[in-house]
Amino acid sequence: MELRWIKVSAWERRGAPLHGFLGRRGGKSEGAFMGLNLSFRVGDDPAVVKDNFCDVKKAVGVHNLKVVTMKQVHGDHIADVADPKIKEIGEADGMVAEKPGIFLGLLTADCAPILFSMPERKLAAVVHAGWRGTLAGIAPKMVRHLKERYGVAPEEIEAALGPTIGVCCYEIGADVAEPLTVKWGDAAKSAIQSRVGKQYLDIRELNRRQLEGAGVAPERIVVAGPCNACDREFFSYRRDKDTGRQLSFIGWPS
Ligand SMILES: [Zn+2]
Repeated sequence: MELRWIKVSAWERRGAPLHGFLGRRGGKSEGAFMGLNLSFRVGDDPAVVKDNFCDVKKAVGVHNLKVVTMKQVHGDHIADVADPKIKEIGEADGMVAEKPGIFLGLLTADCAPILFSMPERKLAAVVHAGWRGTLAGIAPKMVRHLKERYGVAPEEIEAALGPTIGVCCYEIGADVAEPLTVKWGDAAKSAIQSRVGKQYLDIRELNRRQLEGAGVAPERIVVAGPCNACDREFFSYRRDKDTGRQLSFIGWPS
């Protein structure tokens, strides 16, 4: 079965990194994990998850594709990856591939997967941003990290935010709205909607505003793909609780 594979069309035109946001179509997982679950941490059969990774390799067309993932903990730690053979880098919510030949993966089911591409240097990075990571400002932290450690100017950065729970579905309480508004001011207010006495958060909009605030050019920030809770071709923790995780990935072929 063909995978649901969302690419950033703006990146396709310029000689792009290998990248994509995958949905749950294809894959061999069953039950709550039905389809292309790529997480070993949600209770799915590890042999089947391995098989699903093989399906991804075939679809992507890279036979020996290795994807480095993190133990995502809703924090703001960023790890630098220099070894393409590492499977999981440990606890972190952001990673940078220090050179071509290293592919980075994010596993999500509502949180925002953010891919960063720096074509001039063939650098790639990823960020996992749920509301906690967004509150901590992990996306702008990545922009600062890329500047401090790699000398990348914010203007060189292209960012893409993939399928995330949308403002249509992501109801939040005061425990989330308040700290976001205190810390991020107008950017947070513009990302929080009120409807019939309830509040809803647009995680991608807030991260987009944070990236802009960190100096990334607005035209270089792309929002790609639907709300993963509305679109059943994606896993959603909010919608289904017991469920799988979809993969987003990026890297420069060596
Ligand atoms: Zn929705």
